[in-house]
Amino acid sequence: MHPFVYQRSDSAALAVRQAAKPGVRPPTLAPVQFLAGGTTLLDLMKLDAMTAETLVDINDLAKDHGVISAGPGGLNLGALVRMSDAAEHPGVIRDYPVIAQSLQLAASPQIRNMASLGGNVLQRTRCPYFRDPSWTSCNKRVPGSGCAAIGAANRMHAVLGVSDQCIASYPGDFAQALVALDASVQTLGPNGARVIRMEDLHRPPGATPERETILTPGELIIGFSVPAGPWTRRSLYLKVRDRQSYEFGVATAAVALSLDGAAVDQVRIALGGVATKPWRAREAEALLTGRPLTPAAAKAAADAAFAHAITHGANDFKPDLGRRTLVRALLQADRMEV
Ligand code: FAD
Ligand code: SF4
Repeated sequence: MHPFVYQRSDSAALAVRQAAKPGVRPPTLAPVQFLAGGTTLLDLMKLDAMTAETLVDINDLAKDHGVISAGPGGLNLGALVRMSDAAEHPGVIRDYPVIAQSLQLAASPQIRNMASLGGNVLQRTRCPYFRDPSWTSCNKRVPGSGCAAIGAANRMHAVLGVSDQCIASYPGDFAQALVALDASVQTLGPNGARVIRMEDLHRPPGATPERETILTPGELIIGFSVPAGPWTRRSLYLKVRDRQSYEFGVATAAVALSLDGAAVDQVRIALGGVATKPWRAREAEALLTGRPLTPAAAKAAADAAFAHAITHGANDFKPDLGRRTLVRALLQADRMEV
């Protein structure tokens, strides 16, 4: 682990000032990183997969940005809310079950007690070639160095949104719930405050896999807003993984829907484990809207969601698993008592 300067901040404005540095550098060379729970940043720094010259500790911002509030307009979650607090919040469990479940099914109780929601959405891939610098080929860690995963051990890698530069999957769960519920992200950066659609926060790898989000250096996530809607209560997160606890998803589906009689009125779908970023499945949504949610309709929607999947050998099974996961999630949501 490389030496770094440690600073504390007790306001968002001060944290942004401390982090402000000119120029755009790849995240692996970022001069400054915000330190929230540290549950993934410190791991990556110890592995030398990420380095930072300065860590700005933002945990004291919890007094302003560690709050959960819900009302008729929707749900607001501060960036410094701990995963466990949101997962166990009665209003979130009742009115936004997809959010509560995505957090309950993530990591371990100890990690959820430490980890923040802002840090959660910014966690980086679990691709083993990214995390271990003894592998010299990783375009995400060292731009232009190649991709060790293509043609090698890529069972956990993505099949949607991949490029010939990187096929790493986005590993988190909570971000899919936010994308499915049309959430937005509030940020404060060197150029002021802005609101970003959660769906736009993460970037597919394309030719620059080292840039995973549209955040600029030194831009701080303040919180998340989830609009109210008739679909939030009939929502769920289905996570298929290699073991039933303390494991990342191989294929996941966040589903929210409202019914008009027996037909689907509105439906929102985001997929995880199978894609390079939290993946909104709009083709699938379009096929389901206005029709009864039969097993055949769910299967047609799932086929559409994976129509453009690209596999790389060890992950050839993923489109089929992803389709089955989505079908099961949709049929379960349709049967929910709300
Ligand atoms: P940190 O480690 O403090 O920060 C992570 C990154 O976000 C850093 O780059 C940091 O600079 C940046 N950052 C933090 N907060 C902000 C902010 N407000 N604004 C801008 N940048 C910010 N996650 C899942 O979703 N599902 C799982 O199944 C799962 N399993 C796990 C298993 C293990 C063994 C481990 C170690 C982790 C697992 N995780 C899982 C990941 C875990 O949820 C994340 O480590 C955690 O949510 C990160 O939050 P943090 O507050 O600790 O972030
Ligand atoms: Fe690196 Fe992406 Fe290839 Fe993994 S899949 S080795 S993160 S470039």
